[in-house]
Amino acid sequence: MILPIYAYGHPVLRKISNNIDKDYPKLQELIDNMFETMYFSSGVGLAAPQVGLNINLVVVDTNPYSENYSEANNIKQAFINPEIIERTGDDWEFNEGCLSLPEIREEVVRKKEIRITYYDENFVFHDKTFNSVIARVIQHEYDHINGILFVDHLSSLKKTLLKRKLNDISKGKIKTDYKMIIPKKK
Ligand code: ZN
Repeated sequence: MILPIYAYGHPVLRKISNNIDKDYPKLQELIDNMFETMYFSSGVGLAAPQVGLNINLVVVDTNPYSENYSEANNIKQAFINPEIIERTGDDWEFNEGCLSLPEIREEVVRKKEIRITYYDENFVFHDKTFNSVIARVIQHEYDHINGILFVDHLSSLKKTLLKRKLNDISKGKIKTDYKMIIPKKK
């Protein structure tokens, strides 16, 4: 089932999410739905807060990048209760977008390599190192479960320039091919 995506300005995107255990209701169904939603909206990653749930769950599929980054091939993975242990390597600028912030793309600087612990969808524990574009997508999604959005990493000048666009998104003045949940007016 394709789920609607919560738009910039919704409080669910700003909360710190909680860990879950393997008894979380209909977890496999939720993971399947998140993958389906991500593919439908042409994303490479999706975090649970983006579908309205403040839980520590993200899904990633970097295959669309595999033409330019061979290591991105065949990375399709759910990360449950992920924890980034270490960020290493060079600072690396990469053009990011976000399904919760349609039509905005900006260069974001992040570290090139991460070490992360997580559970997979069978609740098997992993301690792994990822780099390049995979580490990029994981860091973006990991931000989401900590209430952080990619625009938070931009300079204050860039943020000022984006203010109107961000305002439009939070008011629903955007067109997307996928359904969005717009924050209620205060
Ligand atoms: Zn995002």
